[in-house]
Amino acid sequence: MQPRVAVVGSGPAGVYAAEALIRYAGEVSVDVLDALPAPFGLVRYAVAPDHPRTQSISESLATVLDHPGVRFLGNVRVGADISIDELLEHYDAVVIAVGAATDRRMGIPGEDLPGSVSATDLVAWYCGNPDVDPGRFVLDASSVAVVGAGNVAGDIARMLARSAGELAATDAPDHILAAFAASSVRDIHLIARRGPAQSRFTTRELRELGDLELADLLVDPADLELDAHSAEVVSSSSAARRNVEVLRGWVGQAETRLDRRIHLRFFQRPVEVLGTDRVEAIRLERTRLDVDGEVHGTGDIVDLPVQMVVRAVGYRSLPLDGLPFDEGSGVVPHLNGRVHRDGVVMPGLYVAGWAKRGPTGVIGTNKHDARETVRSLMDDLPALPRAAADSPDAVVQLLESRGVDVVSWAGWRAIDLAEVEAGRRQGRPRAKISDRAALLRIAAGEG
Ligand SMILES: Cc1cc2nc3c(=O)[nH]c(=O)nc-3n(C[C@H](O)[C@H](O)[C@H](O)COP(=O)(O)OP(=O)(O)OC[C@H]3O[C@@H](n4cnc5c(N)ncnc54)[C@H](O)[C@@H]3O)c2cc1C
Repeated sequence: MQPRVAVVGSGPAGVYAAEALIRYAGEVSVDVLDALPAPFGLVRYAVAPDHPRTQSISESLATVLDHPGVRFLGNVRVGADISIDELLEHYDAVVIAVGAATDRRMGIPGEDLPGSVSATDLVAWYCGNPDVDPGRFVLDASSVAVVGAGNVAGDIARMLARSAGELAATDAPDHILAAFAASSVRDIHLIARRGPAQSRFTTRELRELGDLELADLLVDPADLELDAHSAEVVSSSSAARRNVEVLRGWVGQAETRLDRRIHLRFFQRPVEVLGTDRVEAIRLERTRLDVDGEVHGTGDIVDLPVQMVVRAVGYRSLPLDGLPFDEGSGVVPHLNGRVHRDGVVMPGLYVAGWAKRGPTGVIGTNKHDARETVRSLMDDLPALPRAAADSPDAVVQLLESRGVDVVSWAGWRAIDLAEVEAGRRQGRPRAKISDRAALLRIAAGEG
């Protein structure tokens, strides 16, 4: 019997692992399981709706899931619907590619006040993730603080500053377009603890902030005077140099012409979220960098009136039952993709993607990462204990006996078609469906 491998997670890492398996292992059958009824992980549920080119990577991921040697089993949560041990009974090897489902916290007082939210939730909401209540957010704040200086923070600031017209051509669910059209947001403050030279925006993302229909971009020239450490960073990193140049090009836009404003606020660290029943302001302390780039507070405090705070200070994986987890680094411990517990390799268990290396890199980074994992798996395969020689349908039967509505690849294709059709009627590429019950009905051919 040909080897059987389960890949848990159908984001880029899981799909690239499946691709490497069919390409390099030859005769192998791969099941890709996902907790969501739809595939593609964060490509579908985090890449911003106004970035259709990046979203279109899902088309090449689909060609892998379309392969006869690969089977998609959606709406299956590993750890709840089926355990890792059960997977190891049915498959010769299991690749964990569950990404990073939660966010890092700022660790400051007031962080849990209503109106103080995580980027994870906000992004999942506007991308139509069925696990987020459609009514979870109302954009009734006039001023919003977005804490973070990377592409996720940039995405959120840009999305909040977009006009209804700019968003109308995207694939966002109808209720999201309605929420953005009714948005009260006028001022968006991007808050960074360090300086422009240390910001982690890619230059392309940064430039986009200055190219919005409705929003001006404001930057304080004083923030662009380089301290000793920043000067060193700029001289050694072309990416940092480009970012600083882009920012310098925006200096002097003192007169705002437009309806909305993005304020770039460098050298500010949040020390408290203020408010009684909900967010009313964010307290910021001015920072400075020492020669080693370490951040120090200056004691210079300002309270910025905002009604919403979004923390975009990093994603983080969640522990999965039956798997070791390194709380410090927030990843599954591994040696070249082989999962280990306290240095002892767990036979048949592998990890790839964000669950393996943390939330870094671009989508393509997961390809190399998944290949490394698959190479380890293939080296080990001849010596791995073989799984039960039952029918490939045994897993599906087990899940169905537990009341799980497994979404097949044909089921996903039906959802895909329904979304594209709904979009076409509105003159846009797709209108995402975010209601889980509706997704399951369509997948079952009852839509
Ligand atoms: C807001 C945001 C915007 C981004 N924009 C870009 C961009 O424009 N360009 C770019 O190159 N990169 C972008 N990225 C990064 C990119 O999305 C990641 O590199 C990539 O998605 C990581 O892949 P992954 O497969 O490890 O994880 P994920 O994409 O998160 O996939 C993990 C999958 O595992 C599933 N899963 C989780 N737990 C379970 C379980 N228990 N059982 C079954 N399935 C489970 C999830 O449902 C998910 O489908 C962005 C990331 C974020 C957060």
